[in-house]
Amino acid sequence: MNFEIDSIFVERGCADTPLATRVIRAAATRVPIVHIDDARELAKPDPNARDPFGAGKRRMIIARRKTPFLMACPAGSSRFACCGYLVLTLASNCPMDCSYCFLQEYLADNPAFQVYANFTDSFDELDRLIRSAPDKHFRVGTGELADSLAFDSMTGMSRDLIEFFSTRENLTLEFKTKTDEIENLLATDPRGRVLVSWSLSTDAVFRSSEHRTAPPSARIKAARVVLDAGYRVAFHFDPLIAYENAQRDYVELIDELLDTISPKNISFISMGGLRMTPGLRTVARRRFANDPMLCGEEVMAPDGRYRTFTPLRLKLFSTLAERFRNCGAEIPAYLCMEPAAIHERVFGTVPPRPATIGERLASS
Ligand code: SF4
Repeated sequence: MNFEIDSIFVERGCADTPLATRVIRAAATRVPIVHIDDARELAKPDPNARDPFGAGKRRMIIARRKTPFLMACPAGSSRFACCGYLVLTLASNCPMDCSYCFLQEYLADNPAFQVYANFTDSFDELDRLIRSAPDKHFRVGTGELADSLAFDSMTGMSRDLIEFFSTRENLTLEFKTKTDEIENLLATDPRGRVLVSWSLSTDAVFRSSEHRTAPPSARIKAARVVLDAGYRVAFHFDPLIAYENAQRDYVELIDELLDTISPKNISFISMGGLRMTPGLRTVARRRFANDPMLCGEEVMAPDGRYRTFTPLRLKLFSTLAERFRNCGAEIPAYLCMEPAAIHERVFGTVPPRPATIGERLASS
């Protein structure tokens, strides 16, 4: 994929790092490279920009991360039936622009696209984690505050990550992406310890709401290629959006997926409904005023988020769950950020504890 950036800013002390060297070489003469003392001011929104968040996405900053890389998934909460996911923050923000993306609110004060030059320091944190619980298996993802593979052709981060994770038995790395940027993955042997997951949407959602992402068919084709190269693959149907004809379109999407990838080769699927805090809803509707996907029937849920009207999202969850149940192989499935009662109505069982789900997904 070919994302556009206006400038690359390199913070003092980072210019000679392998990451900065690769990015500068890949950007060649196309993008101005500016060396700066301190990235903090540049990470903030540009008050003169018409769309400060959108402008931030086009400003790449290479800087040191000064806080820990590893944290619990920000979507996790005792209110929800969670999957026990751990998040590695190696970059912040994303060159793509989905109208429903929670980063519009979460990173409103720091919208620049930041990549952390000292990202391999995270490997020490991971080793400490393994030593603290040698009998456990952890699923760790890099796709929470950024897309895992966007710009990977410039940063080459995936290669370092795969090399590290391929030698750690108790860890599974999950790359989560809406791109088809898989070239570096094909050059590195994951030794079964790396999973690549794609968020999948219908063509209607892609065209209306997922700007600069790869088309859903291209994501499915990329999944097939990495599967053949020794990676595990998984799929997130999140957010499911309840527009007219959504059920028909999602079933067609699943059919396309299962025609390309045998169900026995799918490590898991997750589903989540469209959900927005009032703040996110306001900024999303302002930035994407013509997106009908943001204007469905919704209710204010007890967690303070607007969610798709419960019968509509239950219908979508149940339709997808049934299609996967009847596909000829048992694919582990979970709901993201939904209460246990919704899980029970969709799957007919009480959700397992987060740690149990996480371990099952990590090793499936
Ligand atoms: S691809 Fe993911 S991180 Fe990037 S804008 Fe879309 S939802 Fe946000």
